[in-house]
Amino acid sequence: MANNYEAVIGLECHAQLLTNSKLFCSCSTRFGEAPNVNTCPVCLGLPGALPVLNRVAVSMAIKAGLGVNCRINPAAQWSRKNYFYPDLPKGYQITQYDRPLAQKGHIDISVDGVLKTVRINRIHMEEDAGKSLHDGFPDSSRSTHLDFNRSGVPLIEIVTEPDLRSSAEAYDYLSRLKEILEYLEVCDGNMEEGSLRCDANVSVRRVGEEKLGTRTELKNINSFKFVQKAIDFEIARQIDVIEGGGRIVQETRLWNSDEERTVSMRSKEEAHDYRYFPDPDLPLLVVDDAWIETVHRSMPALPEERRRRLVKEYALSEYDSGVLTATRALSDFFEETVKRSGQPKMAANWIMGDLLRFFKENNVDTKDLAQSPVTPEMLAGMIQLVEKGAISGKIAKTVMEEMYATGKPAQKIIEEKGLVQISDSGEIEKIVDKVLEDNAKPVEQYRAGKTGTFGFFVGQVMKATGGRANPQTVNDLLRKKLAG
Ligand code: ADP
Ligand code: MG
Ligand code: ZN
Repeated sequence: MANNYEAVIGLECHAQLLTNSKLFCSCSTRFGEAPNVNTCPVCLGLPGALPVLNRVAVSMAIKAGLGVNCRINPAAQWSRKNYFYPDLPKGYQITQYDRPLAQKGHIDISVDGVLKTVRINRIHMEEDAGKSLHDGFPDSSRSTHLDFNRSGVPLIEIVTEPDLRSSAEAYDYLSRLKEILEYLEVCDGNMEEGSLRCDANVSVRRVGEEKLGTRTELKNINSFKFVQKAIDFEIARQIDVIEGGGRIVQETRLWNSDEERTVSMRSKEEAHDYRYFPDPDLPLLVVDDAWIETVHRSMPALPEERRRRLVKEYALSEYDSGVLTATRALSDFFEETVKRSGQPKMAANWIMGDLLRFFKENNVDTKDLAQSPVTPEMLAGMIQLVEKGAISGKIAKTVMEEMYATGKPAQKIIEEKGLVQISDSGEIEKIVDKVLEDNAKPVEQYRAGKTGTFGFFVGQVMKATGGRANPQTVNDLLRKKLAG
């Protein structure tokens, strides 16, 4: 990096929990409904309305905490964070401050083959605010409209220590975090819809310097790629300022994705500006060991563990197991196919080679694998047909495409299209004889020692059978007959 500078980055990510109802009332959390349909006195902040905690949300937050190796605190406290904003009707947000739900976790990342542990400082729970809509309304007046559907939706905030040193590390951390939350089914990880939001804190310092530099906080970044770009822009900007004899001011900056730069928004507020205090309407959130244990037992294997299992139990390469565990849906699909077919190598090859290509060509996310026209059962069925020798690997390619296009099982496709492999050696022998008869000259040359043409004869037989002849039988018969 320029003049031996080092970047220091800490991330704060908000993840929306996948509950059906809000954190302190029973309103629905459904996305995309008409404005203010999902509201009640509690989430509208009407005077006298009292919050009642959603237990499922806490279970999900505990799950996320355990998933990133955090210690769950026996008692967390709800605090009020006071500030004015039109989309915050109570004038404060209920959050956790000095006694968060979870602390001291970590996520292991790897960039260019170098492993690194990123410490997580804490995870706290809080409610989301509503949404201000500034334009696009039917009356086309220049007023701001408020939608409180999102008000009170449960969030967790996951805060790292300032352990990251490059935008690539930040990118990998986010990918792992998203993956873990998705595997646990506590957040859908959709950055575009705002269910996963991330602020990046960035500072620079001279290599060897112990003290952290002054940081800026980057907000408004709605994709992993932009996080990476925003951080890179900010690192370069800060080095420029310092090299030019200037000083970094602690501030909040917004990422402008059109201009690909960060712009100053406001000087950074300090914690004391918010006048945090314990919320008198809510008791301590007590989490006993039994609750933690119940959550722990409900957790699926996480991506890291699955990757190791695929390498160890199914003898797949690190690379293949990485691809096949990219989403929980994909690893479930793979393991289900293996369970039904008993063929891990073939299952891996067909999924990675063909199925993922179809998905890509049709712009389908592997998270939506459940809607795949080809189910694990169908893929396993096809693999077994290849295994039994009912179809060749080559025909299987066609069958796979047909399965994806029609959703019909392999057996049905090969029957309808007459693709069943010819394994009857009597039938193949007739064709072999015919081929040899039609190619008297090459046969003569072969017998005179020009054996390099063997493949030509195989090709002729395959052509005559539309690729359906059992290759092993064809080989055996040809060798025998050509030998004379
Ligand atoms: P705040 O309360 O202002 O949000 P925190 O201490 O909670 O401050 O830190 C917020 C995030 O900023 C954390 O992820 C932390 O690791 C990161 N951070 C703190 N200081 C620095 C720094 N000097 N450079 C980069 N990141 C930092
Ligand atoms: Mg913060
Ligand atoms: Zn409500």
